Amino acid sequence: MMKLPLNTDLSGKVAVVTGAGGVLCGMFAQALAQAGAKVAVLDLNEEAAQKVADEIVAEGGVAKAYKTNVLEKDSLIATHEAVVADLGTCDILINGAGGNNPRATTDKEYFEHGDIDADTISFFDLDTSGVEFVFNLNFIGTLLPTQIFAQDMVDKEGCNILNISSMNAFTPLTKIPAYSGAKAAISNFTQWLAVHFSKAGIRVNAIAPGFFSTKQNAKLLFNEDGTPTPRTGKILAATPMGRFGESEELIGSLLFLLNNDAAGFITGVVLPVDGGFSAYSGV
Ligand code: NAD
Repeated sequence: MMKLPLNTDLSGKVAVVTGAGGVLCGMFAQALAQAGAKVAVLDLNEEAAQKVADEIVAEGGVAKAYKTNVLEKDSLIATHEAVVADLGTCDILINGAGGNNPRATTDKEYFEHGDIDADTISFFDLDTSGVEFVFNLNFIGTLLPTQIFAQDMVDKEGCNILNISSMNAFTPLTKIPAYSGAKAAISNFTQWLAVHFSKAGIRVNAIAPGFFSTKQNAKLLFNEDGTPTPRTGKILAATPMGRFGESEELIGSLLFLLNNDAAGFITGVVLPVDGGFSAYSGV
């Protein structure tokens, strides 16, 4: 059990979390269950989703795993039917499935003469299907679940959608043009949905996580002797608070934005949780 930083009572609510077999959204699913929600754990990776659901149930919560592809409408429709039958209609949708792909990533931060011919992936070598994959996963993978699950919300009180944006939506990070553009689209779409659903009483917001150290990425961030890798040094220098976030530090924002008493007049915001990264010009 984790210690929730805020009291948000979600009992009786059905929360659908996509990408919930993953690092961040698996943790979100657990926090939502602890706050009392019945959680539908959706992931393309069935095993990962099942593991998260099992952990929630073992801790006394209500959760069920559903193998779902957020890029396939039929898959979402089938999951939606199952969720309604198992848990009830959806009150909360967390659009967590997302990520980057190496085929949409340049090898170097800056283009230099000679890169076109050299054995390096420059901007000119970016793979169209890789770029499409990243745009689809992040943008279409948020749009389609919203089309399917927000239908439940239009006749209900107090429903919420939460998207996951990123630091690269504010200013792009080097090497990842597709992921940056796709997350910028998520921030923009969050505003669009917030306006579109404002009269239907559905609030739509996003969290923009900064840089987090998790068990999974610790080896990439720090050398064996504990000193920061060059990339870690750059991240920390660009983060005024001078440290990585702990992934649990996202949970307060999650519970706050979903809390209709605390955040009932908040819709269309993208909340950075970043130790000041997005506020800092570097000078
Ligand atoms: P993760 O890779 O651990 O989890 C993503 C999950 O999505 C995986 O379990 C994967 O199986 C699932 N998935 C992939 N394609 C899918 C599909 N087509 N249908 C259904 N599920 C699919 O990633 P994470 O680090 O937990 O990130 C979660 C979200 O947060 C993503 O949107 C990511 O872009 C965003 N984000 C993460 C960070 C970070 O520091 N980790 C920072 C900013 C934003």
